[in-house]
Amino acid sequence: PKRIFSGIQPTGNLHLGNYLGAVQKWIELQDNGENVIWSIVDMHSITLPHDPKELSNNILKMTATLLACGIDPKKSILFQQSTVDTHAQLCWVLGCLTAFTRLARLPQFKEKSEILKSIPLSLYIYPVLQAADILLYKATDVPVGQDQVQHIQLAQELAIKFNKKFGNTFPVPHSLINEDASQRIKSLRDPSKKMSKSDQTSKSRLDILDKPEILIEKIKKAVTDFTSKVTYEPEKRPGVSNLITIHSMLTGKSPDQICSEVDGLDTGKYKLVLADVIVEKLTPIREEFSRLIKEPAYLQEVLRNGTESATEIASDSWCEVRNKIGFENDI
Ligand code: ATP
Ligand code: MG
Repeated sequence: PKRIFSGIQPTGNLHLGNYLGAVQKWIELQDNGENVIWSIVDMHSITLPHDPKELSNNILKMTATLLACGIDPKKSILFQQSTVDTHAQLCWVLGCLTAFTRLARLPQFKEKSEILKSIPLSLYIYPVLQAADILLYKATDVPVGQDQVQHIQLAQELAIKFNKKFGNTFPVPHSLINEDASQRIKSLRDPSKKMSKSDQTSKSRLDILDKPEILIEKIKKAVTDFTSKVTYEPEKRPGVSNLITIHSMLTGKSPDQICSEVDGLDTGKYKLVLADVIVEKLTPIREEFSRLIKEPAYLQEVLRNGTESATEIASDSWCEVRNKIGFENDI
């Protein structure tokens, strides 16, 4: 049977890259009646320097945001990673199967460690924790953005390695990539980088909770080039093409269709058209968020129920792992 798992870090706000690359797909899978588990992966959030008070607030904020986007706790399991102890335990076991040099090749490590003076061990090994997150639920499919494909490959290798060594235990998980998001959503300030929660400049991303005037301002300032015509050429014109990708994914229209619809507008005028589309899409989500964030007791209850359901599945897998690797003594 199919089981779907994915996670999101409670660092900062959900942005349009997260929404289009991952969350939009999560909701579709949930509403199709799939067996789905979503995790707010707080243990991953402490791999970069963080403020405890902020993290703790962000966990509730991310919960409210995901619910506002359409995650339904009656259909999905939504839980906070650190409340299920076995993630860290399975991570240790998988770490024992991972070659040190294998992790150095992963691009996210390179990108994120660049800005640090001293690189924490956790930043190096977090893809192993990610593999544990996935395998613990025996997930078959992992809907993620294109930037995560290499991490899912590591999870596949570890599943195969574990099965070979200790007997068949884990299904080999596949990444589910939103076809249109094979172009990952780019930073508005520098279209050679992806849009990221952890980017220092908030103008680089469109946050799901940004007020309309902020959204409009950021889109107006988005870096394009000196050609005024609106054309979709991701290689040659990454800036304007990124805007068209966003537009296309929000509306389901193809890039070509969009270009012909706005034929005659220059990029400046086109930005205003796109801003309208984005504001219309995000306004109901922002309003629902404002309602939910005033109900912390409800949010906490959702997370508690999630922990309970997740623990049930995770404990079974962990028990099986313990048995297989020889942690149980049957004298
Ligand atoms: P951080 O900068 O802290 O890593 P992030 O923006 O990369 O934050 P994550 O929590 O790491 O967000 O990722 C959540 C999900 O969003 C993942 O499935 C990831 O692949 C997807 N995602 C993140 N950024 C983009 C993007 N620019 N375009 C498409 N998908 C994205
Ligand atoms: Mg990330």
